[in-house]
Amino acid sequence: MSNDHTPVDVRLPKGVRCAIALTYDTDMAGGYAPDGICHGRTMPALQEYIMRLCGTAEQFGVRLQFFQIGNGLVLPDVVEHVRQVLQRGHAVDSHTYSHLPLITKEVAQLGEELALTNQLFEEKLGWKSTVLRGPGGYQNGLDGLPENQRVILKNGFKWVSGRFNGNLLGRRGATSTEGPALEPPYAYPTGLIEFPIQAATDRTWFDTLRCVSPEAWTQWRKECGHKPIPKGWRAPWTDKDALDDWIRYNQAVADFAYERRLACCLCWHPYSHYVHDPDNRALPAFLAHCAAKTEKVWVCTMRDLVEMCVSQ
Ligand SMILES: [Zn+2]
Repeated sequence: MSNDHTPVDVRLPKGVRCAIALTYDTDMAGGYAPDGICHGRTMPALQEYIMRLCGTAEQFGVRLQFFQIGNGLVLPDVVEHVRQVLQRGHAVDSHTYSHLPLITKEVAQLGEELALTNQLFEEKLGWKSTVLRGPGGYQNGLDGLPENQRVILKNGFKWVSGRFNGNLLGRRGATSTEGPALEPPYAYPTGLIEFPIQAATDRTWFDTLRCVSPEAWTQWRKECGHKPIPKGWRAPWTDKDALDDWIRYNQAVADFAYERRLACCLCWHPYSHYVHDPDNRALPAFLAHCAAKTEKVWVCTMRDLVEMCVSQ
């Protein structure tokens, strides 16, 4: 751990053996876009898929955490969609206005983006975002960037989740399941608290680690990206066992957190699951796995998770 990090105590509620925040970044990802640009104007097919995820979670009594790119909240149908997600009891927080990395040198622009997104959340949704998900993921989080930390704090965020240590990915098939211990939450010198992403994301898993044909991916993205997926279609760039292994991988991360009594943050994307798990197998399998444990695994929101963090 860097000298600039102050450890954070995580206090699990009584009776909870481990807590897992299942977070979804709702991006219309550049990796699935014909023009390669990531934005927040969620297409109707993806809105439907997100509603399906909400339905699955509700069957297990679980509230999901979503992170929304602010520039989607200029479209009435996206506003209505996010409003429904909130009404159903799930949490939605800021993912910046234009998917701007939090480690940007354009600190003034970062401040403007955060303020504008806060304003849209308030005006369109009557909702205040309290946790910020950093777009893209950063090996060293916001280490050495006190100005960036300050502008985030100034815009009302005490917590950020943007650090993603690529060392967790390892070789193919050897991706670490020990992220909840290797990448603990910490406070920066400014007092801002970082809760890192602690396991491989679905984007990395399906589109990088298990990609068998980058050419097929590029071709699909250019010709079919951002269009509804036909029934029975399978992503031709990803190996055929990737979904089963993804399910097992996340269950193994949960097992590790359970064993060690830890709090854990996972980062998934509805769009990646829409593309690679169109029948929605991963979420029910994960929630059933957690629900079957002897002691309580609290699958919670990021808001719930950060409330457990106490600076030392
Ligand atoms: Zn994102």
